[in-house]
Amino acid sequence: NQKVVLITGCSSGIGLALAARIAKDEKKRFMVYATMRNVSKGEALVEAAGRALGRTLEIKQLDVCDEDSIKACVDSLPERRVDILISNAGMGLIGPIECQSIDEMKTVMDTNFFGLVRLLKEVLPDMKRRKKGHIVVISSVMGIQGILFNDVYAASKFAVEGFCESLAVQALRFNLNISLIEPGPVITEFERKVYDEGLKTDLSKADPVTADIFLNIYLKNYKQIFETLGQTAEDVAEHTLKIMTMEDPPFRHQTNTLYTPMTTLKYADPNGDLPIDTFYKMVFEHDKVFNASLNFIKLLCWRSRKSFTIEKDKSN
Ligand code: NAD
Repeated sequence: NQKVVLITGCSSGIGLALAARIAKDEKKRFMVYATMRNVSKGEALVEAAGRALGRTLEIKQLDVCDEDSIKACVDSLPERRVDILISNAGMGLIGPIECQSIDEMKTVMDTNFFGLVRLLKEVLPDMKRRKKGHIVVISSVMGIQGILFNDVYAASKFAVEGFCESLAVQALRFNLNISLIEPGPVITEFERKVYDEGLKTDLSKADPVTADIFLNIYLKNYKQIFETLGQTAEDVAEHTLKIMTMEDPPFRHQTNTLYTPMTTLKYADPNGDLPIDTFYKMVFEHDKVFNASLNFIKLLCWRSRKSFTIEKDKSN
């Protein structure tokens, strides 16, 4: 009685780690269809999957920006059955909005938001008919909270969250579950691609103050944030597997306990000023505050990581 899992964006990062992890499940509980836009980029997954390839894992083509490719992929599955859909494909974009074209922004929305919408239009009606299914969406802490120079990316993840929150009520009526996985920084290709693109930003359209904040504060601290707070893709995969296998999975799950002090600020102040003021202080009120905050978060992280490990040990 294997569950059929369809995952998008499996050529790298979280999608790759997740596909390999689930396919190698000791109890062989899952048949994984690991999809990617370009199957010629499947080498890393083939290597990570090892003996699971051709047994509990199959690689298929799927571009979340192309309805026909989604339909063709789902049509190719036995009885078109998807028990667990994992919407993971996504992309980032950083920089001042005056330096980004509307087309660039549309590509981010098209991938991160409409990509999910296209998947659900294809998969949800079958799930409703079967009254069975779990939709797992890799969102982000930026689906809860905006971050400096991530305006459009955060907007795309907010769109994902609003969409899922609305659908979740309907889903309940059909016995379906929706879960949003909200990682903080994860060390994947994503980080490198976003940073490299960020470095190439043509800042001539930005005023000198904005350009300076982006280059000399934001980009300078970018790598450090990933180094200090960053999780591995494998860690996020482990969290996702836990949510997938729960009897009654939660609607939201944050994977990075180091980051929860920041997201908690959002819920602590209904006016919304507390997180904005805190981010402002972290960014602008000299490095000392920034480093102090990072150290504070590190300490909290260390403590929560310890308790997470204990929890994991207990469940083993
Ligand atoms: P990644 O760049 O390694 O993986 C993203 C994958 O999506 C890539 O394999 C890419 O080829 C694929 N993709 C992009 N456009 C696609 C399309 N049109 N069709 C199919 N696949 C497409 O980065 P990642 O960190 O593994 O990102 C996975 C998800 O995690 C994304 O949704 C991202 O927003 C989210 N996320 C990442 C971080 C982070 O810091 N890395 C943090 C929070 C959330």
